[in-house]
Amino acid sequence: MKISKKIEHDFVPNDNVIYSRRNVLKFGLTGVCALGTSFLPGFVLADSKTKPWKWSKEVAFYHSEGNIVHCETCPHGCVVEPGERGICRSKVNLDGKYYSVAYGNPCTANIDPIEKKPLYHYLPSTRAFSIAVAGCTFRCLNCQNWTISQVPPEETKNLDMFPDVVVRNCLDYKCESIAYTYSEPMSFYDYMYDTAKIAHSKGIKNLLISNGYINEKPLRRLAKYINAANINLKSYNNEIYKKLNGGTLAPILNTLKVLKEENVWLEITNLVIPSWTDDFNMIKEMCKWLVANNFDNNPLHYLRFMPLYKLTHLPMTPVSTLEKARNIALDAGMKYVYIGNVPGHEAENTFCPKCKKKVLERRGFYILQNNIYKGKCKFCGEKINGVWEK
Ligand code: SF4
Repeated sequence: MKISKKIEHDFVPNDNVIYSRRNVLKFGLTGVCALGTSFLPGFVLADSKTKPWKWSKEVAFYHSEGNIVHCETCPHGCVVEPGERGICRSKVNLDGKYYSVAYGNPCTANIDPIEKKPLYHYLPSTRAFSIAVAGCTFRCLNCQNWTISQVPPEETKNLDMFPDVVVRNCLDYKCESIAYTYSEPMSFYDYMYDTAKIAHSKGIKNLLISNGYINEKPLRRLAKYINAANINLKSYNNEIYKKLNGGTLAPILNTLKVLKEENVWLEITNLVIPSWTDDFNMIKEMCKWLVANNFDNNPLHYLRFMPLYKLTHLPMTPVSTLEKARNIALDAGMKYVYIGNVPGHEAENTFCPKCKKKVLERRGFYILQNNIYKGKCKFCGEKINGVWEK
Protein backbone atom coordinates (compact mmCIF):
# COMPACT_ATOMS: atom_id res chain seq x y z
CA MET A 1 0.00 0.00 0.00
CA LYS A 2 1.43 3.36 -1.01
CA ILE A 3 -0.18 6.32 0.65
CA SER A 4 1.38 9.70 1.10
CA LYS A 5 -0.77 11.74 3.46
CA LYS A 6 -4.20 12.47 4.86
CA ILE A 7 -6.26 15.14 3.17
CA GLU A 8 -6.49 18.35 5.10
CA HIS A 9 -9.81 19.76 3.91
CA ASP A 10 -13.36 18.60 3.48
CA PHE A 11 -13.73 17.52 -0.10
CA VAL A 12 -16.60 18.67 -2.31
CA PRO A 13 -16.09 17.79 -5.99
CA ASN A 14 -16.94 20.67 -8.25
CA ASP A 15 -16.36 20.83 -11.98
CA ASN A 16 -17.27 24.47 -12.42
CA VAL A 17 -15.07 26.29 -14.86
CA ILE A 18 -13.73 29.45 -13.30
CA TYR A 19 -11.81 31.94 -15.36
CA SER A 20 -10.03 34.80 -13.70
CA ARG A 21 -7.81 36.43 -16.27
CA ARG A 22 -9.05 39.86 -15.36
CA ASN A 23 -8.27 42.84 -13.22
CA VAL A 24 -4.77 43.38 -14.52
CA LEU A 25 -4.02 46.28 -12.24
CA LYS A 26 -5.05 44.43 -9.11
CA PHE A 27 -2.74 41.56 -9.94
CA GLY A 28 0.31 43.72 -10.47
CA LEU A 29 3.54 41.91 -9.66
CA THR A 30 2.31 38.78 -7.99
CA GLY A 31 4.64 36.53 -9.98
CA VAL A 32 7.31 34.93 -7.83
CA CYS A 33 10.71 33.52 -8.72
CA ALA A 34 11.30 31.06 -11.54
CA LEU A 35 11.87 28.15 -9.19
CA GLY A 36 8.48 28.56 -7.58
CA THR A 37 5.12 29.82 -8.70
CA SER A 38 5.49 32.22 -11.60
CA PHE A 39 2.86 33.87 -13.73
CA LEU A 40 2.52 36.14 -16.69
CA PRO A 41 1.41 39.66 -15.82
CA GLY A 42 -2.34 39.94 -16.09
CA PHE A 43 -3.40 36.75 -14.39
CA VAL A 44 -5.25 36.84 -11.09
CA LEU A 45 -4.47 34.37 -8.36
CA ALA A 46 -7.27 32.11 -7.28
CA ASP A 47 -8.55 32.12 -3.74
CA SER A 48 -7.53 28.60 -2.79
CA LYS A 49 -8.28 29.10 0.88
CA THR A 50 -11.98 29.69 0.50
CA LYS A 51 -12.57 27.25 -2.35
CA PRO A 52 -9.84 24.62 -2.09
CA TRP A 53 -11.68 21.90 -4.00
CA LYS A 54 -13.07 23.64 -7.02
CA TRP A 55 -10.25 22.12 -9.09
CA SER A 56 -11.29 18.51 -9.17
CA LYS A 57 -12.05 15.91 -11.76
CA GLU A 58 -12.49 12.17 -11.58
CA VAL A 59 -9.28 10.42 -12.60
CA ALA A 60 -9.43 8.54 -15.92
CA PHE A 61 -7.27 5.55 -14.95
CA TYR A 62 -8.16 3.76 -11.71
CA HIS A 63 -10.39 1.07 -10.31
CA SER A 64 -11.99 0.56 -6.92
CA GLU A 65 -12.37 -2.43 -4.66
CA GLY A 66 -15.00 -1.38 -2.18
CA ASN A 67 -13.92 2.05 -1.09
CA ILE A 68 -10.21 1.36 -1.76
CA VAL A 69 -8.85 2.95 -4.90
CA HIS A 70 -6.13 1.50 -7.16
CA CYS A 71 -4.58 4.19 -9.36
CA GLU A 72 -3.56 3.01 -12.84
CA THR A 73 -1.99 6.21 -14.12
CA CYS A 74 1.67 5.59 -13.32
CA PRO A 75 3.81 2.59 -12.36
CA HIS A 76 3.62 3.41 -8.64
CA GLY A 77 0.16 1.83 -8.72
CA CYS A 78 -0.90 3.59 -5.52
CA VAL A 79 -3.50 1.82 -3.42
CA VAL A 80 -5.34 4.56 -1.59
CA GLU A 81 -7.75 4.42 1.32
CA PRO A 82 -10.69 6.82 1.67
CA GLY A 83 -9.58 10.34 2.51
CA GLU A 84 -5.99 9.68 1.49
CA ARG A 85 -3.76 10.49 -1.47
CA GLY A 86 -1.39 8.87 -3.89
CA ILE A 87 2.35 9.51 -3.98
CA CYS A 88 1.96 12.42 -6.41
CA ARG A 89 -0.10 14.24 -3.73
CA SER A 90 -2.56 15.41 -6.36
CA LYS A 91 -5.21 12.68 -6.28
CA VAL A 92 -7.58 11.88 -3.47
CA ASN A 93 -9.91 8.99 -2.67
CA LEU A 94 -13.41 10.11 -1.78
CA ASP A 95 -15.46 7.09 -0.71
CA GLY A 96 -14.06 4.85 -3.42
CA LYS A 97 -14.00 7.44 -6.19
CA TYR A 98 -10.65 8.89 -7.19
CA TYR A 99 -10.32 12.59 -7.93
CA SER A 100 -7.50 14.69 -9.30
CA VAL A 101 -7.20 17.95 -7.40
CA ALA A 102 -4.71 19.17 -10.00
CA TYR A 103 -7.27 20.26 -12.58
CA GLY A 104 -7.43 23.83 -13.78
CA ASN A 105 -5.13 25.25 -11.08
CA PRO A 106 -1.67 25.87 -12.53
CA CYS A 107 0.87 27.27 -10.11
CA THR A 108 2.95 28.46 -13.07
CA ALA A 109 1.99 30.03 -16.39
CA ASN A 110 4.70 31.56 -18.54
CA ILE A 111 5.75 32.02 -22.11
CA ASP A 112 9.08 30.33 -22.82
CA PRO A 113 11.23 29.91 -25.89
CA ILE A 114 10.84 26.29 -26.94
CA GLU A 115 14.62 25.89 -26.61
CA LYS A 116 14.22 26.22 -22.83
CA LYS A 117 12.40 22.87 -22.54
CA PRO A 118 14.93 21.84 -24.02
CA LEU A 119 13.58 21.06 -27.48
CA TYR A 120 16.26 21.93 -30.04
CA HIS A 121 14.94 20.13 -33.11
CA TYR A 122 11.27 21.10 -32.95
CA LEU A 123 10.04 24.40 -34.39
CA PRO A 124 13.04 26.48 -33.27
CA SER A 125 12.50 30.05 -32.11
CA THR A 126 8.81 29.48 -31.40
CA ARG A 127 6.98 30.30 -28.17
CA ALA A 128 5.56 27.78 -25.73
CA PHE A 129 2.75 28.68 -23.35
CA SER A 130 4.06 26.78 -20.33
CA ILE A 131 2.02 25.53 -17.42
CA ALA A 132 2.52 23.38 -14.33
CA VAL A 133 0.39 22.19 -11.44
CA ALA A 134 2.04 21.33 -8.12
CA GLY A 135 2.90 17.69 -7.50
CA CYS A 136 5.23 15.00 -8.81
CA THR A 137 5.42 11.25 -9.10
CA PHE A 138 9.14 11.33 -8.15
CA ARG A 139 11.16 12.45 -5.15
CA CYS A 140 14.42 13.50 -6.83
CA LEU A 141 17.07 14.55 -4.32
CA ASN A 142 18.34 17.11 -6.84
CA CYS A 143 14.97 18.61 -7.81
CA GLN A 144 15.35 22.19 -9.02
CA ASN A 145 11.63 22.93 -8.70
CA TRP A 146 10.95 21.30 -5.35
CA THR A 147 8.86 24.22 -4.11
CA ILE A 148 6.17 23.25 -6.60
CA SER A 149 6.91 19.57 -7.25
CA GLN A 150 7.07 18.38 -3.65
CA VAL A 151 3.88 19.95 -2.33
CA PRO A 152 0.18 19.28 -2.97
CA PRO A 153 -1.67 21.69 -5.29
CA GLU A 154 -3.45 23.55 -2.51
CA GLU A 155 -0.13 24.65 -1.00
CA THR A 156 0.96 26.75 -3.98
CA LYS A 157 -0.40 30.02 -5.29
CA ASN A 158 -2.58 29.02 -8.21
CA LEU A 159 -4.58 30.41 -11.08
CA ASP A 160 -8.05 29.40 -12.19
CA MET A 161 -7.33 28.17 -15.67
CA PHE A 162 -9.40 25.34 -17.04
CA PRO A 163 -8.36 23.61 -20.28
CA ASP A 164 -10.34 25.83 -22.64
CA VAL A 165 -8.86 28.90 -20.94
CA VAL A 166 -5.30 27.61 -21.32
CA VAL A 167 -5.94 27.21 -25.03
CA ARG A 168 -7.52 30.65 -25.29
CA ASN A 169 -4.52 32.19 -23.54
CA CYS A 170 -2.13 30.34 -25.81
CA LEU A 171 -3.92 31.81 -28.83
CA ASP A 172 -4.15 35.29 -27.27
CA TYR A 173 -0.42 35.31 -26.59
CA LYS A 174 0.33 33.98 -30.07
CA CYS A 175 2.19 30.92 -28.86
CA GLU A 176 2.65 28.01 -31.25
CA SER A 177 2.53 25.41 -28.50
CA ILE A 178 1.49 24.54 -24.96
CA ALA A 179 4.17 22.97 -22.79
CA TYR A 180 3.31 20.79 -19.79
CA THR A 181 6.43 21.29 -17.78
CA TYR A 182 8.29 22.55 -14.65
CA SER A 183 6.75 20.10 -12.15
CA GLU A 184 5.73 16.64 -13.43
CA PRO A 185 2.86 16.66 -15.90
CA MET A 186 2.04 13.01 -15.30
CA SER A 187 0.86 14.10 -11.85
CA PHE A 188 -1.69 16.37 -13.55
CA TYR A 189 -2.38 13.89 -16.35
CA ASP A 190 -6.13 14.48 -16.54
CA TYR A 191 -5.79 18.25 -16.82
CA MET A 192 -3.00 17.88 -19.39
CA TYR A 193 -4.98 15.39 -21.48
CA ASP A 194 -8.11 17.54 -21.68
CA THR A 195 -6.06 20.63 -22.47
CA ALA A 196 -3.98 18.88 -25.13
CA LYS A 197 -7.10 17.54 -26.81
CA ILE A 198 -8.67 20.99 -27.14
CA ALA A 199 -5.36 22.54 -28.21
CA HIS A 200 -4.92 19.87 -30.88
CA SER A 201 -8.34 20.68 -32.31
CA LYS A 202 -7.25 24.33 -32.67
CA GLY A 203 -3.97 23.50 -34.41
CA ILE A 204 -1.81 24.24 -31.36
CA LYS A 205 1.13 21.92 -30.71
CA ASN A 206 1.47 20.11 -27.39
CA LEU A 207 4.84 19.59 -25.69
CA LEU A 208 5.39 17.04 -22.93
CA ILE A 209 8.36 17.68 -20.64
CA SER A 210 8.40 14.76 -18.26
CA ASN A 211 10.17 12.11 -16.24
CA GLY A 212 8.37 9.57 -18.43
CA TYR A 213 6.97 7.64 -15.47
CA ILE A 214 3.59 6.57 -16.76
CA ASN A 215 1.75 3.39 -17.67
CA GLU A 216 1.49 2.48 -21.31
CA LYS A 217 -2.28 2.76 -21.66
CA PRO A 218 -2.58 6.37 -20.45
CA LEU A 219 0.57 7.24 -22.37
CA ARG A 220 -0.79 5.97 -25.69
CA ARG A 221 -4.05 7.81 -25.09
CA LEU A 222 -2.16 11.03 -24.39
CA ALA A 223 0.38 10.61 -27.19
CA LYS A 224 -2.33 11.06 -29.85
CA TYR A 225 -2.32 14.74 -28.94
CA ILE A 226 1.36 15.27 -28.11
CA ASN A 227 3.62 16.60 -30.86
CA ALA A 228 6.97 16.68 -29.13
CA ALA A 229 8.44 15.45 -25.87
CA ASN A 230 11.56 15.78 -23.83
CA ILE A 231 11.91 12.82 -21.50
CA ASN A 232 14.37 12.97 -18.65
CA LEU A 233 16.29 9.70 -18.63
CA LYS A 234 17.84 10.29 -15.24
CA SER A 235 20.27 7.37 -15.28
CA TYR A 236 20.66 3.90 -16.70
CA ASN A 237 20.59 2.08 -13.39
CA ASN A 238 17.54 0.85 -11.53
CA GLU A 239 19.11 1.17 -8.08
CA ILE A 240 20.05 4.79 -8.73
CA TYR A 241 16.53 5.46 -9.96
CA LYS A 242 15.15 4.08 -6.70
CA LYS A 243 17.52 6.01 -4.42
CA LEU A 244 17.92 9.28 -6.31
CA ASN A 245 14.47 9.66 -7.84
CA GLY A 246 12.01 7.34 -6.15
CA GLY A 247 11.16 5.51 -9.37
CA THR A 248 12.36 2.68 -11.60
CA LEU A 249 14.14 2.55 -14.93
CA ALA A 250 12.13 0.09 -17.04
CA PRO A 251 8.95 2.20 -17.38
CA ILE A 252 11.01 5.15 -18.64
CA LEU A 253 12.64 3.05 -21.34
CA ASN A 254 9.21 1.83 -22.34
CA THR A 255 7.91 5.40 -22.52
CA LEU A 256 10.71 6.31 -24.94
CA LYS A 257 9.79 3.37 -27.18
CA VAL A 258 6.06 4.12 -27.05
CA LEU A 259 6.51 7.80 -27.88
CA LYS A 260 8.61 6.85 -30.87
CA GLU A 261 6.01 4.36 -32.03
CA GLU A 262 3.34 7.03 -31.66
CA ASN A 263 5.37 9.39 -33.88
CA VAL A 264 5.98 11.98 -31.17
CA TRP A 265 9.14 14.00 -31.84
CA LEU A 266 11.43 12.99 -29.00
CA GLU A 267 14.44 14.51 -27.29
CA ILE A 268 16.16 13.03 -24.26
CA THR A 269 17.75 14.75 -21.29
CA ASN A 270 20.30 13.31 -18.91
CA LEU A 271 21.46 15.30 -15.89
CA VAL A 272 25.01 14.37 -14.96
CA ILE A 273 25.29 14.53 -11.16
CA PRO A 274 28.72 14.06 -9.58
CA SER A 275 28.95 10.75 -7.67
CA TRP A 276 25.41 9.76 -8.71
CA THR A 277 25.09 9.67 -12.51
CA ASP A 278 28.59 10.47 -13.79
CA ASP A 279 29.79 6.90 -14.16
CA PHE A 280 31.17 6.71 -17.70
CA ASN A 281 30.51 2.97 -18.01
CA MET A 282 26.86 3.59 -17.18
CA ILE A 283 26.73 6.48 -19.64
CA LYS A 284 28.21 4.19 -22.28
CA GLU A 285 25.60 1.50 -21.56
CA MET A 286 22.84 4.10 -21.78
CA CYS A 287 24.08 5.27 -25.17
CA LYS A 288 24.42 1.71 -26.43
CA TRP A 289 20.80 1.08 -25.47
CA LEU A 290 19.65 4.28 -27.19
CA VAL A 291 21.46 3.45 -30.41
CA ALA A 292 20.34 -0.21 -30.35
CA ASN A 293 16.75 0.99 -30.02
CA ASN A 294 16.98 3.47 -32.90
CA PHE A 295 17.21 6.68 -30.90
CA ASP A 296 20.45 7.73 -32.60
CA ASN A 297 18.61 10.48 -34.52
CA ASN A 298 16.97 11.85 -31.37
CA PRO A 299 18.82 14.73 -29.68
CA LEU A 300 20.46 13.89 -26.36
CA HIS A 301 21.00 16.73 -23.88
CA TYR A 302 23.59 16.33 -21.15
CA LEU A 303 22.81 18.90 -18.49
CA ARG A 304 25.13 20.31 -15.90
CA PHE A 305 24.04 19.68 -12.31
CA MET A 306 23.70 22.66 -9.97
CA PRO A 307 23.83 21.98 -6.21
CA LEU A 308 20.18 22.24 -5.15
CA TYR A 309 17.57 20.88 -2.77
CA LYS A 310 18.99 17.86 -0.93
CA LEU A 311 22.29 17.70 -2.83
CA THR A 312 23.74 21.09 -1.99
CA HIS A 313 26.88 19.41 -0.64
CA LEU A 314 27.86 18.26 -4.14
CA PRO A 315 29.82 20.37 -6.62
CA MET A 316 28.59 21.45 -10.04
CA THR A 317 29.36 18.95 -12.77
CA PRO A 318 32.81 19.66 -14.18
CA VAL A 319 32.56 20.74 -17.81
CA SER A 320 35.19 18.11 -18.68
CA THR A 321 32.81 15.38 -17.39
CA LEU A 322 30.03 16.64 -19.64
CA GLU A 323 32.39 16.78 -22.60
CA LYS A 324 33.53 13.22 -22.00
CA ALA A 325 29.90 12.06 -21.72
CA ARG A 326 29.19 13.82 -25.01
CA ASN A 327 32.12 12.13 -26.71
CA ILE A 328 30.96 8.74 -25.44
CA ALA A 329 27.52 9.38 -26.93
CA LEU A 330 28.94 10.52 -30.27
CA ASP A 331 31.28 7.51 -30.40
CA ALA A 332 28.33 5.24 -29.67
CA GLY A 333 26.53 6.67 -32.72
CA MET A 334 24.25 9.37 -31.29
CA LYS A 335 24.08 12.10 -33.95
CA TYR A 336 22.99 15.17 -32.01
CA VAL A 337 24.46 15.53 -28.54
CA TYR A 338 24.25 18.75 -26.57
CA ILE A 339 25.65 20.18 -23.38
CA GLY A 340 23.25 22.36 -21.40
CA ASN A 341 23.58 24.74 -18.44
CA VAL A 342 27.04 25.78 -19.64
CA PRO A 343 26.42 29.14 -21.34
CA GLY A 344 28.46 29.72 -24.44
CA HIS A 345 29.66 26.13 -24.77
CA GLU A 346 30.23 25.01 -28.36
CA ALA A 347 27.96 22.00 -27.77
CA GLU A 348 24.93 24.32 -27.49
CA ASN A 349 25.00 24.37 -31.30
CA THR A 350 23.73 21.84 -33.82
CA PHE A 351 26.28 20.31 -36.14
CA CYS A 352 25.57 18.44 -39.35
CA PRO A 353 26.34 14.76 -38.66
CA LYS A 354 27.88 14.42 -42.16
CA CYS A 355 29.94 17.54 -42.98
CA LYS A 356 30.24 18.60 -39.29
CA LYS A 357 29.46 22.22 -40.09
CA LYS A 358 27.38 24.33 -37.70
CA VAL A 359 23.81 24.29 -38.95
CA LEU A 360 22.14 25.96 -35.98
CA GLU A 361 24.00 28.46 -33.84
CA ARG A 362 22.51 29.09 -30.39
CA ARG A 363 23.26 31.29 -27.43
CA GLY A 364 21.26 30.11 -24.49
CA PHE A 365 17.68 29.81 -25.69
CA TYR A 366 18.12 31.91 -28.79
CA ILE A 367 19.02 31.06 -32.37
CA LEU A 368 21.72 33.26 -33.87
CA GLN A 369 22.08 31.54 -37.20
CA ASN A 370 20.05 28.90 -39.05
CA ASN A 371 21.65 26.94 -41.86
CA ILE A 372 18.94 24.33 -42.19
CA TYR A 373 16.95 24.60 -45.39
CA LYS A 374 13.90 22.41 -45.92
CA GLY A 375 15.14 20.07 -43.19
CA LYS A 376 18.59 19.67 -44.74
CA CYS A 377 22.08 20.97 -44.09
CA LYS A 378 22.59 24.01 -46.31
CA PHE A 379 26.23 23.04 -46.86
CA CYS A 380 26.06 19.36 -47.85
CA GLY A 381 22.36 18.51 -48.15
CA GLU A 382 22.34 15.95 -45.34
CA LYS A 383 18.99 15.51 -43.62
CA ILE A 384 18.93 17.07 -40.15
CA ASN A 385 16.38 15.13 -38.13
CA GLY A 386 13.68 17.20 -36.56
CA VAL A 387 10.54 19.21 -37.25
CA TRP A 388 11.77 22.51 -38.59
CA GLU A 389 8.68 24.09 -40.09
CA LYS A 390 5.03 24.33 -39.12
S1 SF4 B 1 -0.45 9.03 -10.69
FE1 SF4 B 1 -0.15 9.56 -8.52
S2 SF4 B 1 -1.74 8.43 -7.43
FE2 SF4 B 1 -1.58 7.53 -9.46
S3 SF4 B 1 -0.16 5.80 -9.22
FE3 SF4 B 1 1.06 7.56 -9.85
S4 SF4 B 1 1.77 8.54 -7.97
FE4 SF4 B 1 0.11 7.14 -7.41
